[in-house]
Amino acid sequence: MTVRDLLAAAALYLGFVAVLFIGSVVLPGRAYLGAELADGSRIQYRLNGLGLLVLVLAAVGVLAAAAPWVLVWPYHLFVPLLVGANVFAFTLTALLYWYGRPSVPVGTADTGGLLRGLFYGAQLNPSWVGVDLKMFSYRPSLIGLLLLGYSFAAAQYERYGYLTGRMVLFQLFCTLYVINYFQFEYGMLYTWDIIAERFGWALVWGDYVLVPFFYCLPGFFLVDNLEPLPAWAAIVLTMTYTLGFWLFRGANDQKHRVKLDPETRIWGRPAELLGGRLLVSGFWGLGRKLNYTGELMIYLSFTLLCGFGSPTPYLLPAWLAGLLIHRAWRDDRRCRAKYGELWTAYCRRVRFRMVPFIY
Ligand code: NDP
Repeated sequence: MTVRDLLAAAALYLGFVAVLFIGSVVLPGRAYLGAELADGSRIQYRLNGLGLLVLVLAAVGVLAAAAPWVLVWPYHLFVPLLVGANVFAFTLTALLYWYGRPSVPVGTADTGGLLRGLFYGAQLNPSWVGVDLKMFSYRPSLIGLLLLGYSFAAAQYERYGYLTGRMVLFQLFCTLYVINYFQFEYGMLYTWDIIAERFGWALVWGDYVLVPFFYCLPGFFLVDNLEPLPAWAAIVLTMTYTLGFWLFRGANDQKHRVKLDPETRIWGRPAELLGGRLLVSGFWGLGRKLNYTGELMIYLSFTLLCGFGSPTPYLLPAWLAGLLIHRAWRDDRRCRAKYGELWTAYCRRVRFRMVPFIY
């Protein structure tokens, strides 16, 4: 890795984030009210992520036709980009903490000292020029993941002159996943990270480094995997992906709809709510965290595309399993504190978290 590579990667990375930020400022988008915060207030968001993604995809299409070698840059500069992304994430964490500090002084019970303050962040919903930074950061995260994936495909094409079936499926799976995220961007407004987590290193590093550079791992391994994918494996993996997608998106959508309108219909029937607050029909009546299970299946199908030549790509589903199981446990504690007896009744009625009859 030369200094020239580092400078090129820094320019590429900063340019990428800057373009997405400017797009987020100027593009039109629908206004949505966020969930009610602990102090009773609600933030208004302008969500234009889907428009931004369409522009990025159009730009990728133009580059693929006119200057495909540009699409390979992220692959060749992967390590310098990773270094640049880390520098960016640590700098952003420090800046967020510095500017957020006055509202939450260091050493209060809330921040618990400098390191804890940096790790968890000082502010719940920092914004800049009207853009909510927490919601914005999912954009470089997921669009970055997509573009790194495309650069792996471009690298395979550059090296071998064709794309394997595995690579094509990987690109399809990843593209659909990211398009769907932006279609459902408003659903993020009701997630735990947005409502309850302050914007510190844990979320910043996750968005700017972990998701784009680690979640793309299977794609990296697919570049030189030329082994044909048997038709039966393609069918099984597509089914795993589709089922995972249905669980993940379906569960998130049902919960989102019920929060907005408790009289909404779930699978053709009026939603059933325990104590008028907790959904016990649809996916939420089968398991308390099937949305996590679905997401895990999606990433497992990305990884299984690599076959079993190397264990390294399996670090991704292994990590995600650990993260989501731990998160399910933390969320359980949070809900128990919030809902008390009602949560206990819900757990009695819906006994399993992520896999009905097993866990
Ligand atoms: P959830 O979307 O499951 O939200 C949890 C919250 O939903 C609870 O705290 C509670 O909040 C509410 N809730 C739980 N059960 C019910 C119920 N039965 N009825 C009504 N409300 C209920 O979790 P997250 O916010 O953690 O995750 C959102 C999505 O993001 C998931 O699909 C997850 O897979 C994904 N994710 C992905 C990660 C990744 O790295 N790829 C990391 C983290 C999340 P309240 O009632 O207070 O609103």
